[in-house]
Amino acid sequence: MENKILGLHHITAIADNAKRNLDFYTQVLGVRLIKKTVNFDDPGTYHFYYGNEMGEPGTILTFFPWEGIGKGAPGAGMATHIGYSVPKGSLDFWKNRLTQYRIQWIEDEIFGEKLISFRDPDGLQLQFIETTDPRLPWTTTDIQAENALKGFHNVTLSLRKAEPTVKILTDILGYTLSQQIDNRYRLTTYSIATANMVDIIADENLNYGKNAAGTNHHIAFRVKNDNVLMEYREKILSAGLDITPKINRDYFFSLYFREPGGVLFEIATDNPGFTVDEQLSSLGSALKLPKQYESHRLQIEKALPKID
Ligand code: ZN
Repeated sequence: MENKILGLHHITAIADNAKRNLDFYTQVLGVRLIKKTVNFDDPGTYHFYYGNEMGEPGTILTFFPWEGIGKGAPGAGMATHIGYSVPKGSLDFWKNRLTQYRIQWIEDEIFGEKLISFRDPDGLQLQFIETTDPRLPWTTTDIQAENALKGFHNVTLSLRKAEPTVKILTDILGYTLSQQIDNRYRLTTYSIATANMVDIIADENLNYGKNAAGTNHHIAFRVKNDNVLMEYREKILSAGLDITPKINRDYFFSLYFREPGGVLFEIATDNPGFTVDEQLSSLGSALKLPKQYESHRLQIEKALPKID
């Protein structure tokens, strides 16, 4: 399994107000802020990473909070639903908690799995799915282990046509079409037991989405290290797709390519990981800057939105 895609690494979405995003994810949903940095391509904007205690790939949801960007619209060519795995029997806790915070939710069942579906403050669609999941969660005073989020279960792409994307997922990324009901597909990789599913909803009549607050920016697949990463670069080039060179994101190395359905895919490595510049116990507590911006720290800190 060494040289395989190991499910999802992280998912990145767009928010508007930084503090509202931070408060919602850390306080209402109780995930851990594992890294507070800036958008490496736009250092006036934060980049928040939320994950489990260890900041393990497969648990990491990240946001670019672009203040004042306004609401986007989910649609074709986007990852439109982010599915978190929650412990069996915890959905009642989450229904009560969301209701307390005046967040509307609906119950649903997809491929036989019970879930609730709701939106974050920017409109991003989240799903909590009851599963048996061995991953260790981050816990808070309000949200103990029997209810806490484990990490990703799946992500759902909305597409006009499923086939070209299914082909990339199966032929290049090693996924298998494991279930299909009408226009809903589930692809699974058996190289890892968690965060290993991508769902597709295919609908020719879907409008294309508009990328702004409350929508997905890209999804990243996980590989062990940058040697495997570069093997995938070759495979993707051989399939006739454009792909970036290897990019150093400080906490992982990345490649980006747009799959034929329009979703931006990234492949990201486990190395070096989030403890490269902070101790595990203090992850997310200090503003971390990539070295090219360290000499501008004062201006950057001043320009960033207030979040305390
Ligand atoms: Zn990314």
